[in-house]
Amino acid sequence: MKTIENISRMSTFAKMMKKEGKSIGLVPTMGYLHDGHLSLVKAAKKHTDVVVMSIFVNPIQFGPKEDFEEYPRDLKHDEEMAREAGVDVIFHPLLKDIYPEGYATYVTVEKLTSNLCGESRPGHFRGVATVVTKLFNIVKPEVAYFGQKDMQQAMMIKKMALDLNMDIEIKIMPIVREKDGLAMSSRNTYLSGSERRDAAVLYQSLLKAETLIKNGERDAGKVIKAIEDMIKAKESARIEYVKLVDARGLKDIKTITGEIAIAVAVFFSNTRLIDNITIMVK
Ligand code: AMP
Repeated sequence: MKTIENISRMSTFAKMMKKEGKSIGLVPTMGYLHDGHLSLVKAAKKHTDVVVMSIFVNPIQFGPKEDFEEYPRDLKHDEEMAREAGVDVIFHPLLKDIYPEGYATYVTVEKLTSNLCGESRPGHFRGVATVVTKLFNIVKPEVAYFGQKDMQQAMMIKKMALDLNMDIEIKIMPIVREKDGLAMSSRNTYLSGSERRDAAVLYQSLLKAETLIKNGERDAGKVIKAIEDMIKAKESARIEYVKLVDARGLKDIKTITGEIAIAVAVFFSNTRLIDNITIMVK
């Protein structure tokens, strides 16, 4: 495995691989790796010849009051984990090379990004779409892998690739969870012991909602209330949103029918965690 910092070296390497007829799978991350990230690597290894993992904490997707500075970073440890998982290249570009002085171009995906995290994190998805476009142009993957954990992000990238005729297949992989159901996230390391215990309520409340729906509940408001009640019972939790949306357009729904997603964003102190499940309702 090698680590490449230089953008033109990365690009040259990608061209070389193409000349040799090898397909490239890209796994974009912000590092501080866990098994969720590694599940994307595993999928990439199955489908493509060369696996490139990018590690870049992208400042333009963080709001001014968010955790860009504090975001956990540990390249050495990431390199060990990535090597063990079979990553071929870590692409770890420098901030000043990705956004040199005078940088002025941004990518915006409309509609899908207006609800859910788009409401509370203005500019976030524009930052993600921009950096992912740049990574696609540099690494030139045939396939790129994203996690369902960030459902809205993954759907936005799929839509962006389609709308902008990017010749890249976008694969969305299932959420990897801790034993108690908490979705793995680099941000989980911010949690205190009691917050970590309380955080299991996110997935528990989603499962409870699923059971309610399976038992016939079709009123979105009632399901939302049930989730909120469970989360509010945890002292350290502060709800940002609990929403039921249609799984294609991510618009709020009142009546539960068809394919729906249930998505939550909850703060534990300053740590913002998200989770979701999708359900098909006949
Ligand atoms: P991040 O480093 O948090 O930006 O995540 C990089 C990629 O890994 C994104 O596509 C995430 O959706 C994905 N990812 C993060 N956590 C998980 C998880 N628990 N399960 C599956 N994929 C994940």
